[in-house]
Amino acid sequence: MKMTGRLNVEIEVENNMCKCASCPFRIVLPDPDPDDWFNDDDEKIVCRVTGKEIASALRPYETDGITVPVKRCPLLNEMNKE
Ligand code: SF4
Repeated sequence: MKMTGRLNVEIEVENNMCKCASCPFRIVLPDPDPDDWFNDDDEKIVCRVTGKEIASALRPYETDGITVPVKRCPLLNEMNKE
C-alpha cells in the first residue's frame, strides 16, 4: 500500500517497511570497492531528507529491494507523530 508522508510524498509500504525505491528522495550513488575490481560497480543508497546513508556495498540489482522501517523514515515517521 501507499502511504502519504510529509511534503505530500507517496511511499510504498509493505509489512511496516518503506520501499525506498518508490521515494523521490532516494539517491543511488556509486560505491566501488577499492580493494576488489570485481565490485567496481557497487552502489550505495542515501536518503536526501536526512543526508544519511541507508545501505552500501550493494550490487546494482540489490538497490531497488532496500527497505527501511517506517519509524526510521523521516517523512512517514513525522506523519505518525501527528
Ligand atoms: S528513508 Fe528516505 S529515501 Fe527512504 S523512503 Fe524514507 S525519505 Fe525516502
